[in-house]
Amino acid sequence: MNLYQTVFAGSKQALKTAVQYVDKAIEQKGPDQKIAFPDTAYSLPMIYAITGNKVGTLEELKGALDLVKSLIVEKEQLRQAEDAGIGTAVAAEIIEALKYLMLEKPYEAPCLGFITDAMIRGWGVGLVTDDIPGVAVIIGECPDNESAAKIIKDYQAKGLLTFLVGKVIDQAVDGGVKVGLEFRVMPLGYNMTSVIHVVTVAIRAALIFGALKPGDWAEFKRYTYKRVKAFVNAVGPLSNFVTACGAGAISLGFPVVTDLDNVSQVPCKLLVQKDYDKMVATSLEMRNIKIKITEIPIPVAFAAAFEGERIRKDDMYVEFGGGKTESWELVSQRDPGEIEDHKIEIIGNDLDTIKEVPGRMPLAVMVDVAGKNMHSDFEPVLERRIHYFMNYIEGVMHVGQRDTTWIRISKDAVQKGFKLKHFGEVLYAKMLDEFGAVVDKCQITIITDDTKAKEYKANYAVPRYKARDERIASLTDESVDTFYSCILCQSFAPSHVCIVTPERLGLCGAVSWLDSKATKELDPTGPCQPIPKEGVEDSVKGSWKTVNEAVYGFTQGKLSRITLYSLLEDPMTSCGCFECIAGIMPEANGVVIVNREYSGISPVGMTFGELASMTGGGVQSPGFMGHGRQFISSKKFISAEGGPGRIVWMPKELKEYVAERLNATAKEMYGIDNFTDMVCDETIAVESEAVLEFLAEKGHPALTMDPLM
Ligand code: SF4
Ligand code: ZN
Repeated sequence: MNLYQTVFAGSKQALKTAVQYVDKAIEQKGPDQKIAFPDTAYSLPMIYAITGNKVGTLEELKGALDLVKSLIVEKEQLRQAEDAGIGTAVAAEIIEALKYLMLEKPYEAPCLGFITDAMIRGWGVGLVTDDIPGVAVIIGECPDNESAAKIIKDYQAKGLLTFLVGKVIDQAVDGGVKVGLEFRVMPLGYNMTSVIHVVTVAIRAALIFGALKPGDWAEFKRYTYKRVKAFVNAVGPLSNFVTACGAGAISLGFPVVTDLDNVSQVPCKLLVQKDYDKMVATSLEMRNIKIKITEIPIPVAFAAAFEGERIRKDDMYVEFGGGKTESWELVSQRDPGEIEDHKIEIIGNDLDTIKEVPGRMPLAVMVDVAGKNMHSDFEPVLERRIHYFMNYIEGVMHVGQRDTTWIRISKDAVQKGFKLKHFGEVLYAKMLDEFGAVVDKCQITIITDDTKAKEYKANYAVPRYKARDERIASLTDESVDTFYSCILCQSFAPSHVCIVTPERLGLCGAVSWLDSKATKELDPTGPCQPIPKEGVEDSVKGSWKTVNEAVYGFTQGKLSRITLYSLLEDPMTSCGCFECIAGIMPEANGVVIVNREYSGISPVGMTFGELASMTGGGVQSPGFMGHGRQFISSKKFISAEGGPGRIVWMPKELKEYVAERLNATAKEMYGIDNFTDMVCDETIAVESEAVLEFLAEKGHPALTMDPLM
């Protein structure tokens, strides 16, 4: 069989299996049985993208079999082979959807199966900042655990999202790779059809961030080719089915690298690489993924993929802070003459003095920087990166900030030779690497001596924290003459722009006004450009002539007006990676807010994912607005509609997160004490009527505000 024949054989086989599965399911459950993947607003995403129709029942699923049939046309040409590949993917989607219907537990750890919308949205910022430079899909089986582990660890070290399908999952685990969502290595499933779960990640990226119109399949292919930097490594003996899937991947613009002989290569699409040591380089090259590497002299791995690593008590060698010992961190600007570049000083004991494991120590981390373009406003921006830099170290966990830090180092890391000075090496290298435009010199001091740590904190750190808080509190939208754009997300949402102001941070929650100001300094022609605040058109709704002109320019004319403070009139658009979504609840004359982490239903009858799908891709959708968590407690939050006093419902976790600041704002704005006690949550009520009852009982202010609609 030549390659074409193999693809057709694979696709026909997939179709046959899908037909059998559908028939069996209908026989057992009836044609009206509902069918869906968990936690998505996009139904069966592949079928939805191709046809524009959401499959909701088994009857409709049966109809989708005709789509598969129509895609398999046995003509030995690339175009037909690619279509058959897409047909195979649709068949796989049908089979997988049925698994979720027929099996009680379609997937068990470590396999993830279907990837939820929330997970995809969570990767948004990483993908646009190139923190996640690409997506690797490894399907099949490597010759041994070592070669599998080597390839996967390499992708992991480079920050890629890596999806595993087939026996390679066990090889990874046995080869000592840390797998799971938090490590960016995602085992999907042992069965080859589970590969569809990464295909629909790409498809949903186009729906979520690109706001593509379902049914316009050619646009989807253009989007995935241009914007989703994915590729496939098909290893070990390939079944006809996998070969057919490979053709589907190629159709979406994802090149395939295989270790097989006797495969006829197709330039830029299908390549043979039999040397496993070169698999990674060949793959990255084919997709034109460039990785910036900073060599850091430490004995453990350093990669963004370790950001989410937790160190459990049993694995822990030492712990700092967490309320049990003194622990703080500080970045301060100094005069160049005051500091010595790359000096790393330890004041107090190092890790080797710990007698009983797990041990406990105080820790103060002082990063002093100097540079002609450095500005004291950038201190908190640099300081917040300490959290990430420390977390990227394999075997180190960092939680919190300033004087609430909590850090753990694993036994494993210490055994490999990790010492305190390595914190210094990491911070030094990364500060210069990421902030080289403003940092000319950097010096690190690490204090483990309790008396000294306390002394420095009182005399040095606390006054700096205070000064900074005062500066941030004084920053209001009125007090500055410049706002900033952020167009980072345009790589996925081409017509979205965030307008970042002191009181309204970017909707991803990661870009404050100070961040955008620093970004402009670090990258003068980059994503954050200053917008002089001039020509006020409506101060209540938050509309300025210059802002509108900037929006017009950045969206290539797609949008000509936005307001900063209104939910109903020309609200700011969303890309897709927002932390929260606000939507109106008309009967309560208020709004509900749902955060990405909440998977339940909200009183407007929608989950986060469903609400989120109402907006995105740079489209204005009055009544729905993506935003950052911090914006909730701002006086400017939908102030045109009455402000945060409109909030009638939030998930409990979010409510607790914002309580302190929101209550202070509500006190100031409405004279209400403990406003959050009036806000309903899922532990009180989710049903509209019960929510209304609760609000009435509490005398919630929204009930007496002007009608929203
Ligand atoms: Fe994307 Fe807006 Fe965040 Fe910038 S501020 S990264 S555009 S969401
Ligand atoms: Zn975004």
